[in-house]
Amino acid sequence: MEHQKPKDQLNRPLRDLRLSVTDKCNFRCQYCMPAEIFGPDYPFLPQNQLLSFEELTRLSKVFVSLGVEKIRITGGEPLMRRELPNLIHMINQIPGVKDIAMTTNGSLLTKYAHGLAQAGLNRVTISLDSLDEDRFADMNGRGYAVQTVLDGIEAAEQAGLGIKINMVVQKGKNDQDILPMAKYFKDKGHTLRFIEYMDVGNTNGWKLDHVYPSRDIVQIIDQQYPLEAVEPHYYGEVANRYRYKGTNTEIGFISSVTEAFCSTCTRARVSAEGKMYTCLFASSGYDLRSRLRSQDSDQMIATYIRDIWGQRHDQYSVDRVKQTRTNKKTKKVEMSHIGG
Ligand code: SAM
Ligand code: SF4
Ligand code: SF4
Repeated sequence: MEHQKPKDQLNRPLRDLRLSVTDKCNFRCQYCMPAEIFGPDYPFLPQNQLLSFEELTRLSKVFVSLGVEKIRITGGEPLMRRELPNLIHMINQIPGVKDIAMTTNGSLLTKYAHGLAQAGLNRVTISLDSLDEDRFADMNGRGYAVQTVLDGIEAAEQAGLGIKINMVVQKGKNDQDILPMAKYFKDKGHTLRFIEYMDVGNTNGWKLDHVYPSRDIVQIIDQQYPLEAVEPHYYGEVANRYRYKGTNTEIGFISSVTEAFCSTCTRARVSAEGKMYTCLFASSGYDLRSRLRSQDSDQMIATYIRDIWGQRHDQYSVDRVKQTRTNKKTKKVEMSHIGG
């Protein structure tokens, strides 16, 4: 199945697909799934509303026919979805998939890393916001220990998976962890990426004052461990990359708030219940599940997706600054729903 590859209204191709495989998570990070909102009675999706592995694979095939080369599995916490390695194996069989990655909180990786690698997963991005036990326990909202995640990282390394670490920095919350995190992962030789705290969803009480701008973090680290800039690898790369001078170890900065990178955004997202979103900050999605469960052929679904992409003009981060000035609020999908 080959289709004309669509470009959106801002001339951006469709290259990356992020599949959320569950809306559940074993953590309650305040900035994503605050415990007071995602409590014991929260109506998570029932199993029959989640896309099945067969549906996710079929959809991946359709997206690949439209130009997608990289697929990232996310959540909620993707490893909460049972038998996830089977899905990786199925996606890995699709001709044209060049890279399969997963974003995870790392807490279950000791159990799954090996099986995931065997099934064809290439890379994991592991989220870790602090090396301080108390702060980390507080930030993950469930008292998980730092060592659990570090063991997960170790397991991923042993399994031969590519590894990156993501740290979301919130001013006044975990900014004292910037240097210890940089040192730890510099010594380990893993790429650490600092992410600006974003105004995703409607529940995390985001304020611009809580954002720690990447350029300030670069300065702090450069003073202690001199850095040199690295050229971008490819069109649409989201992180500004640096190398610790005299080493091959890199560090990255994802400046989603202070330096919008919408102009090269090639990502489509599908939520666990099968809605397609053309932006992380979209307020509504397009229902793919009902099409997958109807008589529609792959061809018809491809045409539907191509038309959505063709209409796309999202550039929320570019517009955010204006919105923040006028204090205008829009309703947005929750991060735990579409997985970042
Ligand atoms: N549970 C997995 C994890 O935490 O890695 C995957 C899903 S999580 C929603 C994906 C990424 O989004 C994580 O790296 C997380 O730190 C990041 N994230 C969540 N809320 C965020 C926010 N408000 N601002 C910036 N990044 C956020
Ligand atoms: Fe869970 Fe990831 Fe959201 Fe934290 S960021 S609550 S680990 S989905
Ligand atoms: Fe892409 Fe939307 Fe993020 Fe801009 S704000 S980079 S369009 S997901």
